[in-house]
Formats: sequence, structure tokens, C-alpha cells
Amino acid sequence: MAEHHSALGLAIAHSDAVRGVDIAQRAPVQPVTLVRPHAARRAARFFVEKFPGRSMYAVKANPSPDLLQILWDSGITHFDVASIAEVRLVARTLPDATLCFMHPVKAEEAIAEAYFTHGVRVFSLDTIEELEKIVRATRGAEDLTLCVRLRVSSDHSKLSLASKFGAAPHEAKDLLFAARQAADALGICFHVGSQAMSPEAYGNAMERVRAAIVEAAVTVDVIDVGGGFPSTYPGMEPPPLERYFETIHRAFESLPVSYSAELWAEPGRALCAEYSSLVVRVEKRRGAELYINDGAYGALFDAAHIGWRFPVQLLREPESDAKDVGFSFYGPTCDDMDHMAGPFELPADIRAGDYVEIGMLGAYGCAMRTAFNGFGSEETVIVTDEPMDSLYVALETADRATRSNVIKL
Ligand SMILES: *Cc1c(COP(=O)(O)O)cnc(C)c1O
Repeated sequence: MAEHHSALGLAIAHSDAVRGVDIAQRAPVQPVTLVRPHAARRAARFFVEKFPGRSMYAVKANPSPDLLQILWDSGITHFDVASIAEVRLVARTLPDATLCFMHPVKAEEAIAEAYFTHGVRVFSLDTIEELEKIVRATRGAEDLTLCVRLRVSSDHSKLSLASKFGAAPHEAKDLLFAARQAADALGICFHVGSQAMSPEAYGNAMERVRAAIVEAAVTVDVIDVGGGFPSTYPGMEPPPLERYFETIHRAFESLPVSYSAELWAEPGRALCAEYSSLVVRVEKRRGAELYINDGAYGALFDAAHIGWRFPVQLLREPESDAKDVGFSFYGPTCDDMDHMAGPFELPADIRAGDYVEIGMLGAYGCAMRTAFNGFGSEETVIVTDEPMDSLYVALETADRATRSNVIKL
């Protein structure tokens, strides 16, 4: 299959429809990352059109410059960055983007470079010490939007973010008051934890916000509901995102904030989970265990360490008609921890030499890969078939042949 390279270095296949199975037929020796720009575009448009406020992309979920460009082209103009390296990356890739530095613990040098070199004006904080750092590093700037991060419950989420950051209820009043004095615009932000499985997570957090505003009696200009919007995985099918948006909108409308107050969100996972998947080769089979060429140190960190189940499909033509059974995976490194329990449902006749696509790795998957033990993946190919699952299209049947016709690029 003929291909050329995009401005950003991706291999682009010339043919109109390129599917995961076409990549497997090339028999790649290393894992291959498949990217689906149309899926990221669709997710971005969904947030831009339906979220009742501003959606900024949380870059840590997947910092690929190609993805940043796709999101920008689809209407995402604001980016939540957490480190000076992310600030530089987005500033370099998208010079007109607005950057918001939303890590509540920053190096003073990072704050100064972000403010003076890259024009960053939005910063989050959760202590008085961090507020003092921001004021010092920006030399008392008077054009700051300061977002006070509140600690909220992670009860509805698969990955907690409740212990590390955020002002506790008894600390919020003094902090909001002090930040109000230093800020041009004052915001309140929180993070309900990643993969929040119920809209209630946001409803409950907004009640914490209300209590904090009432107690501090300050004027608030920005409410930022953070990330946590779910994607869909085997055994983790969330309610429709519209329900989250409705809950958030209703709660926002009833908060005691200035009438011109803005509503922001920082989706990471929901914008990019469907963007990437990975084609791996089965190197060996031992009963119900498959030894594959990517793993815990590759794109499958979450599968190994927190038992996350990703969708899988055998890429074989003609398709196997054996019935699906549960498999676990071993990754390629020499260590027992490189194990993904699954179960991953694959045809019973799978064997060494077969290729498997592991789906929904666009968020916190392909971004977390290392080259430990000499294993890794460099090749990335754009494909045009549908992701293995989607929050944004009704995939009416599991028939892949019809699925690949659904997309509109
Ligand atoms: C990680 C993170 C996000 C993105 O979270 P998702 O669960 O991927 O949506 C947003 N905001 C902050 C501050 C984060 O740390």
C-alpha cells in the first residue's frame, strides 16, 4: 500500500478506506499505533457544540502534536497544561491557542516562563503558598485568572483524584478570599476523578462549590468542572454524555456567581480515547495466556496496573468462526509484572502469528509508552475505519464491514 508522510511525520495510506486488518496483513514485526483523526474530530465537535460552556483539552491524556492540531481544527481553542514541557509543546504546535496552567503545584520558574514567555494568564492553585508563588513569579501581575481547586469526592470515578490536590472545605474560605485580592478574574475548579460513571459526580461537586462561594462571600467569574468525562470500555459503559452536560448546566445556572460568569470543562479522556488503538502480534500461546509484543511498559499500563479492560479484536482474514473465550496477556518484557489479566475475549482458535487490535488506547495508553527492555513501537498509521467502540456514534451492529462505512471525514 502506497503511503506518504504528513507534515507531522505520520504515515498516511493513500487508499480511501484503510482498516486495522489491512495493517495486520503487512505482518508488522513491531506493534503499530493506529490513529483515527475522524474519531477525535467527532469527539471535539461534540464537546464544542454540546457542552454548555468552554471545553479545553487536558493535554496529558495524549500530547501528540497531530492530535492537538486536529482538536484545534475542530474548534478546541483552550488547552489545559500541567507542566512547562506541555506549555512549550502546545505553544510551539498551536501558537494562537490559549493555555491554562491547571496543575496546582508548580515550579516558580515554570510559572514565570509560562507567564512572560508564553502568555499564560490562567493558573490554578490549592494553597496560600502556591498563590504567593504565582504572585512572586509574575511580579504581581494584574491580569491573572486564578482558579482555586477544591477537593471533591471521587466516589463515582474509576480513578481517584481525591487525595492529592484540592483545598479542603475548612481551607477554601481564606484561600478564595486571598485569591480574589490577587486575581483579575476568580475561578473555582475541581476534578471528580477520571472515568466518572455518573453525572451525579458533577452534581455533588457543584454543591461543594456552592457551599464554598456562600461561605467566602466572593464574586466568582469562572466555574471549571475539570475532566473526568468517561469513555466506553468493556464493562464500563457510561450514560450518555448529554446527561452529564445537563446536570452540570442545571447546577451552574443555580450557583450564586456573577451573571457573566463562564463555565469551563477540561476533558482529556473523552476527547481522545477513540483516537488511537494498537495492533499487536501474538508471539506465543500458552493455554489461555497470549504473549503479545506490547504490555505494561507500552500502551497497556492501565490494563496491567489497575486491571482496565480494553476492547480487542482478532485481525484475521477470513474471520475466525471459533467462539470467543477469555484470554489474559503477557507483555514482551522479562518481568512477571508485565501481565494484563483481562479477560480479553478472543476466538478460541487464536494462535502465534495472529494480530490483535487493542482499542480505545487514545487516552492514557499510547501516551504512556516507554522503551523499557528494548520493546516499543514507532510506527503510526492513519486508518479510516471506525474505532472499536464509540460514545459519539450509534454502532448499531458489531459488523465491522458496515462500521467502516459509517464515517464521514
Ligand atoms: C488529568 C486531568 C484532566 C483530564 O482528566 P480526564 O479524566 O482525562 O478527563 C483535567 N484536568 C486536570 C487538572 C487533570 O489533572
